[in-house]
Amino acid sequence: MYSVQEEKELQKLTDELLKFIEGKDRSYWKRLNKKEAEELAEKLRRVIRYHDYKYYVQANPVISDYQYDKLFHALEDLENAHPEIVTPDSPTQRISPAFTGEFEKVKHYAEMTSLENTYSPNDLKDWDRRVRELLGKETVEYIVEPKFDGASVELVYEKDLLVRGATRGDGVYGEDITMNVKTIKSIPLRAPFSKYGINLISIRGEVIMPKSVFKRLNEEREKQGLPLFANPRNAAAGTLRLKNPAEVAKRGLDCYVYQILYSEPKKLCSDIKTQKEALELLSNCGFKTPHIQKVCKNIDEVIETVLKAQEERESWDFEADGMVIKVNDICAWEKLGETMHHPRWAVAYKFPAKQAVTKLVDVVWQVGRTGALTPVAILEPVEVGGVIVSRATLFNPDFIRMKDIRIGDYVIVERAGETIPYIVGPVVERRTGEEKEIEVPKNCPVCGAPIVKELDEAVPRCPNINCPAQLKEHLIYWGKVLDIKGLGEATVNQLMRKGLVKSIADLYYLKKEDLLRLPGWGLRKTQNLLEQIEKSKGAPFWKKLTALGIRHVGEKTAQLLAKRFRNLEELKGVSFTELASIPGIGPVTATSIKNFFKAEQNLEMIKKLEKAGFKFERTEEEEREQELPKPLAGQNVVFTGELGNFTRREAQHIVELLGGNPTNSVTRRTSFVVVGKNPGSKYQRAQKLGIKMIHEEEFINMLKEFSKVNPEVRKILEEKGLL
Ligand code: AMP
Ligand code: ZN
Repeated sequence: MYSVQEEKELQKLTDELLKFIEGKDRSYWKRLNKKEAEELAEKLRRVIRYHDYKYYVQANPVISDYQYDKLFHALEDLENAHPEIVTPDSPTQRISPAFTGEFEKVKHYAEMTSLENTYSPNDLKDWDRRVRELLGKETVEYIVEPKFDGASVELVYEKDLLVRGATRGDGVYGEDITMNVKTIKSIPLRAPFSKYGINLISIRGEVIMPKSVFKRLNEEREKQGLPLFANPRNAAAGTLRLKNPAEVAKRGLDCYVYQILYSEPKKLCSDIKTQKEALELLSNCGFKTPHIQKVCKNIDEVIETVLKAQEERESWDFEADGMVIKVNDICAWEKLGETMHHPRWAVAYKFPAKQAVTKLVDVVWQVGRTGALTPVAILEPVEVGGVIVSRATLFNPDFIRMKDIRIGDYVIVERAGETIPYIVGPVVERRTGEEKEIEVPKNCPVCGAPIVKELDEAVPRCPNINCPAQLKEHLIYWGKVLDIKGLGEATVNQLMRKGLVKSIADLYYLKKEDLLRLPGWGLRKTQNLLEQIEKSKGAPFWKKLTALGIRHVGEKTAQLLAKRFRNLEELKGVSFTELASIPGIGPVTATSIKNFFKAEQNLEMIKKLEKAGFKFERTEEEEREQELPKPLAGQNVVFTGELGNFTRREAQHIVELLGGNPTNSVTRRTSFVVVGKNPGSKYQRAQKLGIKMIHEEEFINMLKEFSKVNPEVRKILEEKGLL
């Protein structure tokens, strides 16, 4: 990708830039004129791209994380001070806003086919014989790559810019997941294909979740009481379909590319004659390509290579379910063609799974922090791939039903790499008739509350928020949401251990003398905590709603609810249908809310809180805010170019004050685009999609009109001398 010379130059530039940005702040960036800002931004982008490549593609960073962050923040600040210079391929543009709705369906440039499977060296020899016959050759050269076990994606670059990322779908049509693909740092937003005379290219790769990342994610989810992912493949595929790119970015996905599907002009079998050359070109354009891409003279060498890989695969940081063998000569691909399902020029060799059979002796149900009940199989200890396994998660009741697993069954246990032991299924032939069905408990094994099951969710839950299994985490969460300083984990542990707090409401009945008796608690600490707790009674209604920790009711949803309902009584009284029809709520959240208010323990806790003066109703400020008209409610507004009277931030803030939704990219859901001076690519995109566009003057006129009903907006316009 980078020549030695270029690397030297980029490292020098890095040092210069680091020195240059030291101590500079926003006000300095603002003073630069557009040309200066643009030049500096381009330099920063070049070095950041280089360091992304070193870190994410080569895993060989040459600067510290701290230095990298400095460069990145400088670019962010600079672009914030000059929004008009932002380019779509800037490293700052990897994360787009969350969205609702469906992914768009897109047609792939070339069909994304599946592969034929083989399971033994003999199968491979048969396949080789067929290939040689069809080609009329004595020997055929092959190339062997790992078969990445992740989610297959198509990446499209037009004029060097990443313009699309799509799932495989049915092979012909996939879903447009560009926003999510952009968050993966080993996928370049800009790649120098034009250097090779390529204007448009569609490539295929696999988005994977590294084993180490997968392990951490599941540990984290277990702590949070969220359902676990069965394996890295499910985790990668699930993550790619999230509708919040910021969340996707956090999940640590990676991508290997292994195929050129299509290009304009056509290069396959002309400039690019072999698969090896194709991989080299992709690598030269900044992509991560398979770490094994061995060219083999004949099938014996192929077999040797796959068997060696089979031994080594545990040490790879990604899951591979086998190896892929491809004819190296791309011109031969056309001759060989495809069957209905797969190409004749490639084949998969599947690794044998590491399995063992053992008896499932019992199932226990674990209660997580949000009350999720997870069935865990207790197994007669057995060795699987060098590790003794005595427990395996059964995920949820649907999994048990689907696999028809029963207590007393002999089951096949599988383990692949770092994945948690997985139960493939029962050995039905070994049943004696003594086996028992696994039943979901009717009551929580910890507190006895009746178990509920939410719509759309495979997991049964204990709905009692006083359940000791959940209380601790909930108390910490309560403190965090309501900003109660001093209510951290250590304090919560102490309070629970001494039996001073058996429910959230008990916080509001804490007595000074009880706290003073705790080890390490003086007058100061005691008074501080009691004051903080008292203060939380004045928190806004939406925060109080959030703090209740109702599943699916985070800050955003709580804000929606607090806008709709004045107090908890109103919310409790509303019908399921009405709740579910509120935009942004839907049946899943509505069910969860309804269930929450069905649990006796929750109602009691709320009553007790209210008795202590903790009222679930809008504050005066929330009421006032509520009364202001929201003329832009439900509208998605995008800004492009430089505004004369506002910074981008200010303009977006005003849109929010008027109830609108400022967003960063133009989609079909955009209501209108405000166009300033030197508009960027969003302008063209809006034109292409036929989205309404208005100039700054029109925008200001609109605001003047709205300012008549909204004093906050009036104030801003007055300050700016626009009224
Ligand atoms: P399957 O869909 O199980 O028949 O297997 C084919 C899948 O293997 C394709 O959909 C690809 O997503 C995946 N795959 C993983 N690694 C490679 C590779 N190196 N070359 C081709 N396909 C691969
Ligand atoms: Zn419970």
